[in-house]
Amino acid sequence: MQDSLKESFLKDISEITSLNDLLNLKAKYIGKKGIITEKIKNLAKLSLEERKSQGKILNELKQFIEELIKNKEEELKQKEISESLKKEFIDITLPGKNFYFGGQHPVNKTLLEIIDIFREIGFTVEEGPEVELDYYNFEALNIPKNHPARDMQDTFYVSEDVVLRTHTSPVQVRVMEKKKPPLRFISPGKVYRCDSDITHTPMFHQVEGLMVDEDVSFSHLKGILVYFLRRLFGENIPVRFRPSFFPFTEPSTEIDIGCIICSGSGCRVCKGTGWLEVLGAGMVHPNVFKFAGYPEGKYTGFAFGMGVERLTMLKYGIDDIRLFFENDIRFLRQF
Ligand SMILES: [Zn+2]
Repeated sequence: MQDSLKESFLKDISEITSLNDLLNLKAKYIGKKGIITEKIKNLAKLSLEERKSQGKILNELKQFIEELIKNKEEELKQKEISESLKKEFIDITLPGKNFYFGGQHPVNKTLLEIIDIFREIGFTVEEGPEVELDYYNFEALNIPKNHPARDMQDTFYVSEDVVLRTHTSPVQVRVMEKKKPPLRFISPGKVYRCDSDITHTPMFHQVEGLMVDEDVSFSHLKGILVYFLRRLFGENIPVRFRPSFFPFTEPSTEIDIGCIICSGSGCRVCKGTGWLEVLGAGMVHPNVFKFAGYPEGKYTGFAFGMGVERLTMLKYGIDDIRLFFENDIRFLRQF
């Protein structure tokens, strides 16, 4: 009888895998209403002789069970600790997660540099709309309808009177309509032309500049633009002015710097000339002042414009403008 009780206990305890089950098992055998406890209580009903022998056996069995439960409890606790250690283990030799820093796009970087240089010498920054009236983009800049100069720029027309601005020059007119000289500002922004190859994209950035006052002369234009180019490309960069034509300036000039790739000896980028065209400029055409409503002959001024992508390509030796807009992180990380 007691032997079969021992066997059933041994079978029960061998199946226990958690501390909670072990507690239940303990209650089942030696708890207040456990099997063994009941049996010990019932000893009183037996004869003295039987009580003695049965009592001894039951007590031994109880001690045996207590001992085994204690051991099992210890074993389960150890198992729980080692499992939680395994679960909570931090392998400090594993490589960490990478967090990448953001950076400025190379075009923005150049743009901000240009703005900084002009701000330092007293130019303010003005902005205008990208969807522009034909009037501001062409008419008021001395480019009437059917003027051959319109063919110089491949225009996106929204309607007959509305275009995507082909240059930032319309901002000149808008500012002159509102403010009287002295004026000294630049207008950076996006411009649009129907053109796409390795040096042209349908959208690119320009910075236009204007300085208007009484007695502003070509020497001011020269002084400021040479200063600007040497700040951007280095103090010793050669600069030259060539006569050119723009409808909104007279006289007009194109400005070259000595090729920064070959230092003037001639290469593919400068097409063997040793020079790179970087700016267009000129003295503001009297007709433009007339459109702005300024009294005739009172003011003079100069305007200039530059393509930011082109300057960035030259500054960093990039040979394909499309790289700026592909958003390839490997390209962008180089700056
Ligand atoms: Zn060159």
